[in-house]
Amino acid sequence: MDVLAVSDEGSRCAVCGGHPDGLCAICHRAACADCVAIVRGPLGPVACCVDCGTRDVEAEYRDRIVRDVVIPALGLAVGLAALAAIGWILVR
Ligand SMILES: [Zn+2]
Ligand SMILES: [Zn+2]
Repeated sequence: MDVLAVSDEGSRCAVCGGHPDGLCAICHRAACADCVAIVRGPLGPVACCVDCGTRDVEAEYRDRIVRDVVIPALGLAVGLAALAAIGWILVR
């Protein structure tokens, strides 16, 4: 099991306070080997702390995509439709 290298030395496992062996891929807190869980993300398995391992990671990614991609795209579509409607009214 590959765990990401610890970037901030001196931090402790966020779950049990022990020696950290890696960083959670989701919340980026340090976690020791005992407190790391492997969850299935949209891009394959990711190592994360057990706190995040109990959450629904795929649902969170979905929510993030909806918030960051779908809603702006809908806003753009509505804006373009409004512009098209205005243009249509003006040229009529
Ligand atoms: Zn731990
Ligand atoms: Zn985490």
